[in-house]
Amino acid sequence: QTAMNRTATARTGPSRIDTTRPHPARVYDWFLGGKDNYPVDEELGRQIMAIETGAPRAAHANRRFMQRATRRLARKTGIRQFLDIGTGIPTEPNLHQIAQSVAPDARVVYVDNDPIVLAHAEALLHGTPEGVTEYLQADARDPRGILEQARRVLDFDRPIALSLIALLHFVADEDGAYELVDALVEALAPGSCLVLSAMTADFEPEHVRRGIATYAAGGVTLVARSQAEMGGFFKGLEVMEPGIVSVADWHPELTAEGEKPDGQGPVSLYGAVGLKP
Ligand code: SAH
Repeated sequence: QTAMNRTATARTGPSRIDTTRPHPARVYDWFLGGKDNYPVDEELGRQIMAIETGAPRAAHANRRFMQRATRRLARKTGIRQFLDIGTGIPTEPNLHQIAQSVAPDARVVYVDNDPIVLAHAEALLHGTPEGVTEYLQADARDPRGILEQARRVLDFDRPIALSLIALLHFVADEDGAYELVDALVEALAPGSCLVLSAMTADFEPEHVRRGIATYAAGGVTLVARSQAEMGGFFKGLEVMEPGIVSVADWHPELTAEGEKPDGQGPVSLYGAVGLKP
């Protein structure tokens, strides 16, 4: 199962975890109450909290959007293959656990470019015996490289759920955010889905503006996109109900028993699911 993981490691060499500057995966982990972060990450997290105390709620709501959307697709569309780019540090339940709890034979490929995620990838590779989980260290800005490697595990003649969750606000337009989505979606068979969430300033413009400036001071580029700009990621796709909404408002009724609800009011991330006809 970890053959590809070893290949990726060999290709990129021993990746160094840089603890001198904050990394998005680790700041997000801090917001989620995880332990895989460093003082630089916590410092940025605390600066964001000083601007927006709702940041942890947004992170948890985003996580739960992933869970509801994945469960929904596995149940309703019968999709059995998942390509998750910008996976993040493992946080239970991870996507493969949701997918394989519905369909034990689900095949999941995870992709991230941060060495901290590679360091913890082992936790992403414990799936069901009937299913497959793989981890690739790769950059979303190289969609062709990702597709080439993912084809060894996933059958692109059959539907795939492509998830880009809380990823695209780290990719500016000029770095090819729209082109990378188009290239990935183009490779998918009819019946495939795009599950996407990304930051917006539509709900809390001033907090988000200051948050972006704080991340920028830490050396991290963040972009907020309007609802219309988010729509641009769904070219040629049919956006499912309820459309492009705050992740907290995406089918809250699908919240499983025992799962915490997201609380009242929107969070500054849009979420949506599109179907490739
Ligand atoms: N999808 C997870 C994690 C979101 S955090 C969730 O929603 O819970 C965003 C992740 O995207 C981080 O792990 C970060 O390392 C990764 N990321 C950012 N830019 C990337 C890029 N260009 N290529 C691949 N991964 C990227």
